[in-house]
Amino acid sequence: MEDKVFDVIVVGGGPAGLTAGLYLARARMDAVLVEKQLTGGAPALTEKIENYPGFPEPISGFELVDRMRRQAEGFGLNILPFNPLEGLRDEGGVKVVRTAEGEMRAYAVVLATGMRPATLGVPGEEEFHGRGVSYCATCDGAFFKGAVVAVVGGGNSAVEEALFLTRFADKVIIVHRRDRLRAGGVLEERALSHPKMDFRWKKMVKEIRGDQKVTGIVLADVEGGGEEELAVDGVFLYVGNLPNTAELEGIIELDERGFIRTDGSLQTSMKGVFAAGDVRSGAVWQVAAAVGDGVRAALGAQFHVENLKGTAYI
Ligand code: NAP
Repeated sequence: MEDKVFDVIVVGGGPAGLTAGLYLARARMDAVLVEKQLTGGAPALTEKIENYPGFPEPISGFELVDRMRRQAEGFGLNILPFNPLEGLRDEGGVKVVRTAEGEMRAYAVVLATGMRPATLGVPGEEEFHGRGVSYCATCDGAFFKGAVVAVVGGGNSAVEEALFLTRFADKVIIVHRRDRLRAGGVLEERALSHPKMDFRWKKMVKEIRGDQKVTGIVLADVEGGGEEELAVDGVFLYVGNLPNTAELEGIIELDERGFIRTDGSLQTSMKGVFAAGDVRSGAVWQVAAAVGDGVRAALGAQFHVENLKGTAYI
């Protein structure tokens, strides 16, 4: 494997990576996709997706990305369960991707490594992670039957997951630092009118308390109006996301928040390396947009490889 030079290595198996893989496989490129976990990325953990065009009935995130995987594999895409990217370098036009399993080589790389949930960094968060603190309602929601849970954040993730939690919990309290939700439209309407939902506006979580597991959270008023302790059985945190690019620092150009900068063809500062999906600077963090990125990055990578080989149709 270490001596072989693939045409393209796609790193990451979410919608962007799977779409890039599908296009490259259909183009009969010698492409491989590496993914450290199960394919699907963050959408695989989304209960339902109702804004992906072509699916008038909501589809589960897992089902949608599983279809993408099957479609790509159907055209011959090879998906390898590799550990996270540990490094990337250019050796005379050949890109060397380093993982814990060893090195892989290709003429082009598509980086579609996505992002991960941000943490709040408050006392108790780490201590009670897995004992009432969660970043994934789809994974852990069923443990909170009849419970009172807090969801922190006001974006689409917080509101979608809070609505999902109403299936299990008796009460779901959204704690948000502003006086209105960032999530708008349909999600906002559903949340504000849901009988099991409650809201604590202009509040920040200062501490998560518990003994064996979470028993409450301490809320501070953002305008300095004092503190209150709220008794809850669980806390779900949706306070933004961080790009999975730590290993790329100093290797390719990142923006001030660590997302990968690209040009119009989604090529990064390293020629022949493309970025697609949530990890790309300027991405709008939607499945449909990630799919579009996957297409553009795959076409860019294909053109790059065919140009190198002198087989480009120009
Ligand atoms: P997000 O939109 O960045 O929202 C994060 C929320 O956490 C914001 O409300 C933010 O408050 C709050 N927050 C951030 N840091 C905080 C802190 N230290 N303390 C308290 N609150 C804090 O993140 P997201 O909801 O995960 O969504 C990410 C992207 O994915 C978005 O573009 C979203 O549209 C997209 N997405 C789309 C869908 C969908 O289309 N159905 C579903 C999920 C996600 P402020 O509002 O004050 O900044």
